[in-house]
Amino acid sequence: MSLQVVLDQDKCSGLGLCEAEAPEIFEVREDGSLAVLDETPADEHRMACEAAVAACPTEALRLIES
Ligand code: SF4
Repeated sequence: MSLQVVLDQDKCSGLGLCEAEAPEIFEVREDGSLAVLDETPADEHRMACEAAVAACPTEALRLIES
């Protein structure tokens, strides 16, 4: 099973709570937009990604198993 991160830019408010949980996967840019640094993270990042999704106050993030 591989993991995929899906971001809904329209819902993202750019506060960076996801980056705090998973800084190797998410990065808020200077303009306030969020960059997903790795859309298909390795399994070692799974827990951090799940924490990032849970931390997002606007439900802008989803994880898909494929
Ligand atoms: S926690 Fe959610 S709203 Fe905040 S930057 Fe990350 S994806 Fe966007």
